[in-house]
Amino acid sequence: MDEETIFAQATAPGKAGVAVIRISGPLADSALSALAGPLPEPRRMVLRRVANPSNGDTLDHALAVRFAAEASFTGEPTAELHLHGSAAVVRSVLDALAKMEGLRPAEPGEFTRRALFNGRMDLAQVEGLSDLLAAETEAQRLQAMRVMEGGLSRLVDHWRERLIRAAALIEAGIDFADEDLPAGLLDGAADAMETVLAEVKAELSGAQAAERIREGFRVAILGRPNSGKSTLLNALAKRDAAIVSEHAGTTRDVIEVHLDLWGLPVTFLDTAGLRETDDPVERIGIERSRKAAENADVRLWLQEIDDGAEPEIALSDADLVVISKADRGSAPDGLAVSALTGKGVDLLLETLFNRLRATAQTSSHVIRVRQRVALERGAEALERCLSLARSGIGEPEILAEELRYALRQLEALIGRVDVEDLLDDVFASFCIGK
Ligand code: GDP
Repeated sequence: MDEETIFAQATAPGKAGVAVIRISGPLADSALSALAGPLPEPRRMVLRRVANPSNGDTLDHALAVRFAAEASFTGEPTAELHLHGSAAVVRSVLDALAKMEGLRPAEPGEFTRRALFNGRMDLAQVEGLSDLLAAETEAQRLQAMRVMEGGLSRLVDHWRERLIRAAALIEAGIDFADEDLPAGLLDGAADAMETVLAEVKAELSGAQAAERIREGFRVAILGRPNSGKSTLLNALAKRDAAIVSEHAGTTRDVIEVHLDLWGLPVTFLDTAGLRETDDPVERIGIERSRKAAENADVRLWLQEIDDGAEPEIALSDADLVVISKADRGSAPDGLAVSALTGKGVDLLLETLFNRLRATAQTSSHVIRVRQRVALERGAEALERCLSLARSGIGEPEILAEELRYALRQLEALIGRVDVEDLLDDVFASFCIGK
C-alpha cells in the first residue's frame, strides 16, 4: 500500500450542484474525521457540517462517506465528501486537506493507478475505464463497459489456463530426453493451442471495428467543385446531434463534423473539390482530400444532378454515389439529396448508419493498439508453436519456450508483465481525481 494519502476533486471543475472530493490512503479516515467529525459506518452516507480544523469555521454542509480498503475503488481506505458544487467551497476544503500532515494532492489518474497496483482492476480494465470516461456515444459506452467489466480479462484468463495446461503436457514430454515426444501428449497440447489461436484471431478480426467505435467512423464527402459538399456538410451540422469541431480558415482545408449517428460516432469530412489545377495552394488541399478519402470508411461521391461526367475517383463497394441538388429536377434512381430543402438527407444518414452498424457489430474487446499488438504477437508465437507441435519433430524445449513466450504476450494484455513500461502510456489520458 502506498504510504501517502492523496486527495482531489473527483467531479469536473466549475459550477455544479454537487462536487465530490475523494481522499485515499492510510490517513483517509483521520482526514475525514478532522473535517467532518465522528466517522460514519463504512458505506453509509451521513450529512455533516464540514469545519476547518484549524479554526472551527464552517466550510460547508456535506454528505460524507467512507470505504474500507477491501471495498474501495483504490483498494485503500477511502473517504468522500459530497459538497455543494461551487469553486469556493471546493477550494476551501482542498486547502484544509492540503494543510494536513501526510496528505497531498493526487496526480492525474493516481486513484486508478492505486486501484491497479492493489489488484482492484487489471490493465485492460483500466483502459476500459479510460475509454468509458471519454465515451460520447452509446456504442462507445457499451464497448468500453464490456472491457471495464473484465470481458477481455476473462478471455485472457481462459487462454492462460489452457496454454498452461498445454505447456505442462509438453514439459512432461521433456522427460523423454533424446526421444521424440509421445504423439498423444503433443496432440493434446496442439489441440489446446489451436483452439486458443482461433479465439485470439477472432478477437483480432474485430479490432478494426472496435477502433472505429472508439475513434469514430470516417465518412469523406467528395465531389467536383460546387457539387454541394460544403452545403451538405452544413445541413448535417445543423442537425441536433452534430458538433462542428473545426472551422477551417479556408475552403481548401478539410473540415470535420462529428455526429452521433444513433449511437455510432461518425466524423464527416468535407474535402476540397477534386480537379486538375496549377494553383500550388489548391493542389495541397486536393492532396489532403485524396488522403482523407483514402482513409475514410465510406466515401460519398456527390454528383450534381445535371453533371453527366464520370466520378473522378475509383469507387468501391464501400462508397456511395449521391446525387446532389435534387431540388433542381427529378433525380434518377438511387440516393438523391437536396441540402437546400433537406430532402433525402435522412435517408442518406439511415443508409450510412446501416452500413456502419454492420461493421460495428463485428467489433471485439480489443480497444487499444497496445492490446492489438500483444494479441498479434501472441498469435504469431502460437502459430510457431503449432507448426512445431504438428510437425511431430522432437525439440520439446524449444516448443515449451515458444509457448511461454506466447503466454507472456497474452498476459501483457492484462498487465501481468512489464506493467511499469506501459503505465505512462495508459495513464496519459486520465484526469486528476480519477
Ligand atoms: P462545394 O464546392 O462542393 O463545397 O459546393 P458548395 O456547397 O459550396 O455549393 C456550390 C453551390 O451550389 C452554392 O451556390 C450552393 O448554394 C449551391 N447548392 C449546394 N447545395 C444545393 C442544393 O441542394 N440545391 C441547390 N439548388 N443548390 C445547392
